[in-house]
Amino acid sequence: MKKTTFVSVVAVALVTSCFGAFASAAEFLSGIQWAEPEVIDPGTPGKAPSDAVVLFDGTDMSAFHGAERWTVKDGAIVAGPGAVRSKAQFGDCQVHIEWASAAEVKGSGQGRSNSGVFLMGKYEVQVLDSYENKTYFDGQCGAIYKQHPPLVNACRKPGEWQSYDIIWKAPRFDDDGKLLSPAFVTLLHNGVLIQNHFQLQGDTPYNRAPAYKAHGEKGPISLQFHGNPVRYRNIWVREVKELENRRIHEPKLR
Ligand code: MG
Repeated sequence: MKKTTFVSVVAVALVTSCFGAFASAAEFLSGIQWAEPEVIDPGTPGKAPSDAVVLFDGTDMSAFHGAERWTVKDGAIVAGPGAVRSKAQFGDCQVHIEWASAAEVKGSGQGRSNSGVFLMGKYEVQVLDSYENKTYFDGQCGAIYKQHPPLVNACRKPGEWQSYDIIWKAPRFDDDGKLLSPAFVTLLHNGVLIQNHFQLQGDTPYNRAPAYKAHGEKGPISLQFHGNPVRYRNIWVREVKELENRRIHEPKLR
């Protein structure tokens, strides 16, 4: 067989087999019928998505209880005596919050710009100035307090604005108060992953081991006052819900 003829035969064979493969390719069907994902406006950078509950947009603290001694200055909240808690309650959710430690460095360890974001009012993501400021690792900035340090220290310098993006899966309890499934948290600090679907052992007190105690399906977002004038801004929360779905047939090829 001449070389050109041989090449032509091989080429035709390849095209035929490929075409045949495409022609006979079957499509996998999961058998699950999904609700259509809702269309939302993600917002411009720095703004809340259209489906978020905005807790603070730079103007006032009316979305919180207990804010009588917290102040609003230059579009930011300055922490004051007493914890604040959101009037709105959340279960599974995504939280965006920006914070800044004091520009003037005072104190050390846990005494430097200590605050905290409490999911459901009970589970603390530590806020602390951990820029060149050592403390116990499961109490430094971005720790799940007394349970798990951040995977890395992504702190910015004192006084600079920082962000937390928190993905929260609430714990579930049965009617008798027994834990059905624990809480999980994922946390991005300044866009860097520092908690990766961490499973919480319970709440986050200073003076005893973590423990779960049954509570409702939803709770507030609380911000801690620990004696330091930490600032907050641009706080919003999105409820996270699984898409409705139902099985309409077993998995199959068609
Ligand atoms: Mg704290």
